[in-house]
Amino acid sequence: MRGHPAFVAQHATATCCRSCLQKWHGVDIGRQMNGAEQEEVVSLIMKWIDRQMRS
Ligand SMILES: [Zn+2]
Repeated sequence: MRGHPAFVAQHATATCCRSCLQKWHGVDIGRQMNGAEQEEVVSLIMKWIDRQMRS
């Protein structure tokens, strides 16, 4: 999985795991993410991938 675009994107946007989500996005580890938070994370990843493909 090392170097896979989605994996790289998750690390670049700090959405790779719950502790990064808590640290960088303020999502508590103990609770489920709501729909808006999930959408925001997905759109962050998509924007990041889009940026990489343009550069
Ligand atoms: Zn992480």
